[in-house]
Amino acid sequence: MATRSLYHNIMLTGPRFDLYSVYMSKPRTNAQKAAAVERVKKWAIKNPERVKTNKQRWATRNAAEIREYTHTYYIDHKQSLIENKRRWRAENKAIFMAQCARYRKAHPEKSRERCSRRRARIHNATIEPVNYIDVLARDGRWCYLCEKDITLTDEMHFDHVIPLSKGGAHTMENIRPTHGTCNVRKHSKILEVKHA
Ligand SMILES: [Zn+2]
Repeated sequence: MATRSLYHNIMLTGPRFDLYSVYMSKPRTNAQKAAAVERVKKWAIKNPERVKTNKQRWATRNAAEIREYTHTYYIDHKQSLIENKRRWRAENKAIFMAQCARYRKAHPEKSRERCSRRRARIHNATIEPVNYIDVLARDGRWCYLCEKDITLTDEMHFDHVIPLSKGGAHTMENIRPTHGTCNVRKHSKILEVKHA
């Protein structure tokens, strides 16, 4: 139980995938069942497209049930699921790091938001969901630190105007676009003051 993935468990114990349920619903001897499963497996290898559309149809038809099952399964097994994930990450560090890097590259805004929220939590700051596209729509590509445009080739950062470390909030209001270089300069100044 512990080593199976959530998806695997749903396939085994949740609402069944059409094809298998048809085969398994007829009364059969164990040998007949095994042979039927083998036939299905062979068929599936030869017809990957059909398998794909069948699975999609199954998922659409049972969407509500799957969602509910997934949710209750998660609640019932939360601790072991978290434990499994942690163990897998520890045992597959290189793969995990590569996955993270790929994810960050594909979703820069999500990982940025996650970092910000984490820092905000550490500083006990007020946290609101921040939509960076809305921030850009409000302020444009304009750096409030040096008061110049941020060109498309410039690196752009989103800065907490009042730093989280100084009681600033992680909210749309407190976040503005800056040049990457200006943002870094501002933060090194804050650190200089801190250590002076
Ligand atoms: Zn600037």
